[in-house]
Amino acid sequence: MDVVDKLIVLGSGAKFDKCASSPTLPKSRVRRTSSSHPLVGPWIYPAALPDGGCMNLLKILYANICVHDCGYCAFSHFTRARRAKFSPEELAGLFMELHRDGYVEGLFLSSGVCGDSDSTMNEMIEAVRIIREKYGFSGYVHLKVLPGASYSTVREAVRLADRVSVNLEAPSSARLHELSSTKDFGADLLRRMKWISELGKRELLPSGHTTQFVVGGGGASDLEILRTVSWLYRKLGIRRAYYSAFTPIKGTRFESKPRTPKVRERRLYQADWLLRDYGFKLEEIVFGDDENLPFDVDPKLAFALNNPSLYPIDINEATYEELLRVPGIGPKLARKIISLREREGKVRSIRVLAELGVPLKRTGAFISISGERQLRLSDACKKEIKVV
Ligand code: SF4
Repeated sequence: MDVVDKLIVLGSGAKFDKCASSPTLPKSRVRRTSSSHPLVGPWIYPAALPDGGCMNLLKILYANICVHDCGYCAFSHFTRARRAKFSPEELAGLFMELHRDGYVEGLFLSSGVCGDSDSTMNEMIEAVRIIREKYGFSGYVHLKVLPGASYSTVREAVRLADRVSVNLEAPSSARLHELSSTKDFGADLLRRMKWISELGKRELLPSGHTTQFVVGGGGASDLEILRTVSWLYRKLGIRRAYYSAFTPIKGTRFESKPRTPKVRERRLYQADWLLRDYGFKLEEIVFGDDENLPFDVDPKLAFALNNPSLYPIDINEATYEELLRVPGIGPKLARKIISLREREGKVRSIRVLAELGVPLKRTGAFISISGERQLRLSDACKKEIKVV
């Protein structure tokens, strides 16, 4: 198989991995690439940056050969996928060609486990070492740490990459066992995350470390997932978690399991933002009797409807943290409201909020200006609860 064939197989295979990117990135922020170049394809992936910018990554697998038996995965040793594997030189050369031609500014490299974790990790690390040390590339590299990788390879990955990640996939040992019989939650995955957390404190890992969960496929509830995620944020300092709604793939062990609705993935991301960026505690998130987030209402609105005594929040008196508790107001709008208050003394009318971009239909029932609630709660519920 030549390098271009490998690129097609291993670039397409990387679509199951999540990174600092958004498939729902607004079109205006997506950097377009020409389709006439033979090396250009869906493996060039627009990644959202924290500052609102966008960077094209080469998102690719080193190999799609794997000794593990994850029931949802197209590349487990059960499936009959077309297999491929790069050499370090091939991958480094390919990346640099795309980089020099201006198509990519960074690399996201994941892989199946070929044989043993360390030999695959060492080859991935060698590819990144060539890119860094032979070609002098100093841009963004996100490197996946494979289950069971040794301390020395994890340390080297942390040294070379801007971000590393371990795919936890499930929130506990028992739940991982429903997905895979060959991976050990504590020994193969969590221990590596603890190492990374420690190494990240001592060495340069500018973009931190992250993890990923399969949502569905096994029986883990949203509460189980978010309980683990909340612990990971607090104790291991992960930068963020990604969620991937389970989709059955033909030929896998889970091919006949039901697909997870995308709205469940979206609700998890919304609850995750509340935990990570909005100062919410896990105990404040509203779950249904089945321990899952409701589909018909987003988690912040569910909190507001569950805690009517906390609202309306006075838009002129509220702290930044209180503003973040108003449905429809995120960090950007909260900052805009506070700077407008500093500039003009106070917010005098709802019209001023509309001009700032505050979605009044969403926020109106939960805010007051000069003591006046801006929309009846029942009207807000009628409008918002239908939004899925
Ligand atoms: S470890 Fe599991 S999810 Fe990852 S490539 Fe192997 S089989 Fe697939």
